[in-house]
Amino acid sequence: MTAPRTACTISVGDELLAGESLDTHGRTIAATLGARGCRVLGHRVVGDDVAAIAAAMREALADADLVIVTGGLGPTLDDVTREALAEVLEDPLVVDVEAVSTLEAWFAGRGRPMPESNRRQVMRPSSAHLLPNPHGTAPGIAASVGGVPIAVLPGPPREMRPMLDLVVETHLAAEPARPVVVVRAVGIGESDAGTRIAEFMRRDAPLPVATTVSDSIVSARIRGRDAGDADEVERLARAVEDAWAPFAFARGEGSLEAAVGSLLAGSGATIATAESCTGGLLAGALTAVPGSSAWFPGSVVTYANRRKVEDLGVSEIDLERDGAVSRSVAVAMAAGARARAGASIGVSTTGIAGPDGGTDAKPVGTVWIGIADDDGTDARCFRFPGERDTVRRRTVLAALQLVRLRLLGASEPLLWERASVS
Ligand code: ATP
Ligand code: MG
Repeated sequence: MTAPRTACTISVGDELLAGESLDTHGRTIAATLGARGCRVLGHRVVGDDVAAIAAAMREALADADLVIVTGGLGPTLDDVTREALAEVLEDPLVVDVEAVSTLEAWFAGRGRPMPESNRRQVMRPSSAHLLPNPHGTAPGIAASVGGVPIAVLPGPPREMRPMLDLVVETHLAAEPARPVVVVRAVGIGESDAGTRIAEFMRRDAPLPVATTVSDSIVSARIRGRDAGDADEVERLARAVEDAWAPFAFARGEGSLEAAVGSLLAGSGATIATAESCTGGLLAGALTAVPGSSAWFPGSVVTYANRRKVEDLGVSEIDLERDGAVSRSVAVAMAAGARARAGASIGVSTTGIAGPDGGTDAKPVGTVWIGIADDDGTDARCFRFPGERDTVRRRTVLAALQLVRLRLLGASEPLLWERASVS
């Protein structure tokens, strides 16, 4: 049996077609199969309708070496993917005796009798076999049509993922994983990032590096053709990290807050935050990192001027003279957060997220980020483009990157920073 080189994927669900829930399985499966050298030729989204699902399955089976379908395996009558598969296979649906006992045991383990409606989930087309589901009640279904394997997996992501791994194991285990490294950076623009690695991005390079930007994070993807490229992929990843220093913070899915957290943990430092325009988002990001209690004592959200004065010791004179969105206030907030929490670093945010509140001198998007540590205090001014949400998210990323650079002893200006503002 040769490993499938191409695949088609189908997501089933009226809620996906109606735009009520986001179809993410298509990309999850494409990435997983792609890593094993199996290319997705097409992806279809269809509603909970036997004829539509069967038609999509037939088309996919005609085009590809492997077909993966997700969703519509639930116990309710609107879940009809198994019926569609039976129609394509021209098989009757039969009860899988083994699966009945497994399902009864699943319910017994939870102290509940098995509802009659769940009996549908142990039906399968007679020539198919069921795939075990350790995380739920719906087994998957695997079959083969004219030598082309087709797998139907449950919709809920935590049930779909392990079963997808099982399908990969079954059909693509012999394919060694293709090496892929993603290098991520914050605080650098995409064109600057691209210029710095132009020689690696040439289309005629053996392994061309590709960049993307998403949510203000620039990524470079280095993909090997096969397992033999692992060393070259690693060499290129290092070269990109060097070219993007000090802005590159992680490989793969690693977050900036996790990068900051491991620097803090490694140096024994702690960080406290004082937030105005980010309203706790910075603390939220830091506490998303497992183990953050070791280096994050807490945060103060001071939205009103009164709170800045009373909770952080910001001077009323500074507020009056410079306004809340100013260097002096950002510095005092950071110093106040640091002193009151007894932390080694204090970081603050104060800015105008919009849509209202901007002036000619301080338009929407103007944000000051303050830092206080053993080396003294500093504040940097940014002018973030974008709407309220974007300004707030960019503020969090910039604050985290400023802290990271400070911990590394670097002081390069970040994207959107206004160097000459006092
Ligand atoms: P069950 O009904 O037992 O939960 P199912 O196999 O019938 O399982 P669906 O009803 O189709 O699954 O989907 C259950 C949930 O799984 C959906 O509400 C949705 O949150 C998630 N889901 C389904 N399909 C997708 C998809 N293509 N991408 C992302 N999430 C999905
Ligand atoms: Mg459904």
